[in-house]
Amino acid sequence: MPRYPRLTATNYPIPIFKTMSKTRKILLSEKDMPTQWYNIQADMPNPMLPPLHPGTKQPIGPDDLAPLFPMALIQQEVSQERWHEIPEQVQDIYKKWRPTPLYRAYDLEKALDTPAKIYYKYEGVSPSGSHKPNTAVAQAYYNKQEGVKRITTETGAGQWGSALSFACGLFDMECEVFMVKVSYEQKPYRKIMMNTWGSSVYASPTNLTEAGKQILAQDPHSPGSLGIAISEAVERAVQDEHTKYSLGSVLNHVLMHQTIIGMEAMKQMEMAGDFPDVVVAPFGGGSNFAGITFPFLRHKLTKGKDHLRFLAIEPASCPKLTRGEFRYDFGDSIGMTPLIPMYTLGHSFVPPTIHAGGLRYHGAGAIVSQLLKDEIIEAQAIQQLECFEAGVLFGKTEGILPAPEATHAVAGAIREANQAKEEGKSKVILFNMCGHGHFDLRAYEDYFAGKLQDHHYSDEQLTKNLKELDDIPMG
Ligand SMILES: *Cc1c(COP(=O)(O)O)cnc(C)c1O
Repeated sequence: MPRYPRLTATNYPIPIFKTMSKTRKILLSEKDMPTQWYNIQADMPNPMLPPLHPGTKQPIGPDDLAPLFPMALIQQEVSQERWHEIPEQVQDIYKKWRPTPLYRAYDLEKALDTPAKIYYKYEGVSPSGSHKPNTAVAQAYYNKQEGVKRITTETGAGQWGSALSFACGLFDMECEVFMVKVSYEQKPYRKIMMNTWGSSVYASPTNLTEAGKQILAQDPHSPGSLGIAISEAVERAVQDEHTKYSLGSVLNHVLMHQTIIGMEAMKQMEMAGDFPDVVVAPFGGGSNFAGITFPFLRHKLTKGKDHLRFLAIEPASCPKLTRGEFRYDFGDSIGMTPLIPMYTLGHSFVPPTIHAGGLRYHGAGAIVSQLLKDEIIEAQAIQQLECFEAGVLFGKTEGILPAPEATHAVAGAIREANQAKEEGKSKVILFNMCGHGHFDLRAYEDYFAGKLQDHHYSDEQLTKNLKELDDIPMG
């Protein structure tokens, strides 16, 4: 892979500008905010395999999901309709921070000395600092409509828990957040943010659930994982009829809510007079990747634009897309959720405690997995040191400190820009700056102190985890 010169905190040259006539920020007005979400299921060349019941291993129907989710969201989950109207109340709340800006990264381009044009969509302007409220507000809305009183959820880096806390607060619903223990300890201010919006936050694994107790019995010092926290939140939801569960990524309806990002970006790229050759996003469960790419991907699926590329960047420490297997697996660690056809590392895979907490998930969403299997999208795994290096360069040139997750997109975009330079070709790159890192400064501190390291897995280590799937249908 091409490398860019190592830029440390002291040797990066500050650019001096002679002309000031550039348009850096491409802004949409509130009245031009898109009013529909895009459902890619309408345009996929191959349909996905159905989700299976965790017990019977038979395809599940909408009724099986009813204890967990409101009917409106279950219908969206299986919908084949291309466009879904965004409810007016949700549009109104979106306007607290949307439309979000699209930037041309002139200074990053200059630092890289690349012929490529680099654009990024900035989702860090939302109240909780990432793209997550796009679906949190929608989910809270539909739950409220169906009389739900309390929502439970898990959170990794704290971004999702914050977003859902904010949304539940607006709709006057209770919110209970199971926060992966390692993040709970690394990011105490995320917890306080959630408390401020009215949520209860627990360090998972907890003693509050059977799932948590089971994990703690095996390993009292478990750092937790998203999969474990999901098991806990789901268990709480099924025990009470007024409580539902909410997931911040992976599921089809979540991906659809996020397409507001790409719908806006389409309009903004048009205003800029460009169309991206490659769209890059970090990948945890697939929601921000889907959000920015799917509206553009539609041009590849339905308008014959075969040359367009869509690049998901995952951490090398949790490489489900590049080194996992495509098969049925559970969404959680214990095996309570339906079996979903996905690229997975095995549901009990516990990734190392890297700082990009939001990317520490063993699996991927069904839609994105199918698109990857069909070679419509691409994936790359990048080590965390290269990502932080990219994040620091981005901070110095563009001024925004990316969330550790978002640095993966920067690193991916930089690789693309360097490739354009090597080939001496122009190229339009669009990436998703899906969140700011203001609550993640510990990660930067550790990076500067040389405490972060890259992670290497042997194939044997990865195969060992997939063995646990031997009893599950292949798909
Ligand atoms: C949650 C999160 C992610 C990962 O989740 P996706 O569903 O893959 O988008 C990435 N970046 C940020 C800032 C997040 O909060």
